[in-house]
Amino acid sequence: MNYCPQCATELQERLVDDSIKPACPDHGCGFVFWNNPTPVVAMIVERPDGVVLAHNAQWEHRFFSIITGFLEAGEDPRDCAIRETAEELGLTAQSAQLIGVYSFARQNQVIIAYHIEADGDITLNEELDEYKIVPVSELRGWDMGTGLAINDWLATRQEQ
Ligand SMILES: [Zn+2]
Repeated sequence: MNYCPQCATELQERLVDDSIKPACPDHGCGFVFWNNPTPVVAMIVERPDGVVLAHNAQWEHRFFSIITGFLEAGEDPRDCAIRETAEELGLTAQSAQLIGVYSFARQNQVIIAYHIEADGDITLNEELDEYKIVPVSELRGWDMGTGLAINDWLATRQEQ
């Protein structure tokens, strides 16, 4: 962002709350580009045969992850998780349980992760081009983003 969205003045770097941020030099306007993270809802979708991991059609690498989606205006994150499960996989959620909330600084996102129980046949929407079902015993998380939610979910299952 180079220009103030409120008054169109060119933004300048300024010290705000202990860090340098683009800000409007017109103090009467006072706009600061905070660049707040975007909330993203992530779903560990579990069927009786395992967890659904999918490949996004825009990803270059052959990497499979749990599905994610953006909140709509005014939408409850849990409702979003249920809606995205239906839209991206064609599955009806039987339950939706919050796992946790995770910072994903590299993407400037905050991930809100849910465990979804669902059954039925998967129909991918256009965002996804491939999926696989991983048995829970073979599922492994990773050290950032949605992988942290997978690790936490697996840890709570081992406690039971
Ligand atoms: Zn301004």
